[in-house]
Amino acid sequence: MIIVMKSDASLKELSEIIKEVKKLGFEVHLSKGKERTIVGVIGNGRQVSPDYFEIFSGVERVVPILKPFKLASREFKPEKSIVRINGVSIGNEEVIIMAGPCAVESREQILETAHAVKEAGAKILRGGAFKPRTSPYSFQGLKEKGLELLLEAKEKTGLSIVSEVMAPEHVPLVGEVADILQIGTRNMQNYALLEAVGKYNKPVLFKRGMMATLEEFLMAAEYILSNGNSKVILCERGIRTFEKYTRNTLDLTTIPLLNQLSHLPVCIDPSHATGMRSLVIPVSKAAIAAGADALIVEVHPCPEKALSDGAQSLNLKEFSRMMEELKPVAEAVKRRI
Ligand code: PEP
Ligand code: MN
Repeated sequence: MIIVMKSDASLKELSEIIKEVKKLGFEVHLSKGKERTIVGVIGNGRQVSPDYFEIFSGVERVVPILKPFKLASREFKPEKSIVRINGVSIGNEEVIIMAGPCAVESREQILETAHAVKEAGAKILRGGAFKPRTSPYSFQGLKEKGLELLLEAKEKTGLSIVSEVMAPEHVPLVGEVADILQIGTRNMQNYALLEAVGKYNKPVLFKRGMMATLEEFLMAAEYILSNGNSKVILCERGIRTFEKYTRNTLDLTTIPLLNQLSHLPVCIDPSHATGMRSLVIPVSKAAIAAGADALIVEVHPCPEKALSDGAQSLNLKEFSRMMEELKPVAEAVKRRI
């Protein structure tokens, strides 16, 4: 349940409530809005009816959260969350574009891409150092060396970095360089990893499992949130369906639906969703029109030679054309790029 405090509730009244909630064996999660504070009463505490808290002074009303996901829900936090990364805000009016190669392959490749995507208007550089490949015989990423190259690209361009982390023990290593930790589709339900990033103080780009329902996706996000990290960006990257033309099927409905169900910002990955370079720009336009807060796009200086995901990567010229073509779409829905 959530306890909505009166707008003029004092700090003493708030701390009385917090003390009581903890005494009953629940965890307290605070959401401090512009107008009022909401106390989330979460966990397996003693069964009490909402009326129990209504008599406390400073309390306006008590509402049960009916959805299975609590901290991710709009009921817990009615206003949209904004995730801030070095002066870039995701969840605000500006649609944030993250771009870069699927994997960091070499110094030249990452630096050339970083400068070009920055020039075209991207705010965040993507690049995998640890790669989750379907085959153990495929390129697995440059690992630590890849992180060093990302750091150099960050220092040279000033761009923030998003990079995937695949194991709990790698969280501090990747977190030293990455400003946003990416959890990939294959790890959406890796609960040890979710707990580790939940306890780490860096934003998380959290990808939907390729076979997960939206409810499973939000329940998994709850693992990160309930471990103390509220800086979660939900990312739809396509799901498995019977369709074979595309690598995955982009579930565009998730954008307005997640915006209704959750306060967390929503990102779309048009590259993995389609698997086809020719579809990336049109699908990105649709995503922005439907209300996406960010896009993460694969870009490579020479996609034909990419060590992973070349078929879905834009070249540098195509990416800069994409940025130009997205601008009027964003303006049409009162956003900007
Ligand atoms: C990636 O971003 O390169 C990646 C592996 O994504 P996903 O987890 O969505 O497949
Ligand atoms: Mn990829």
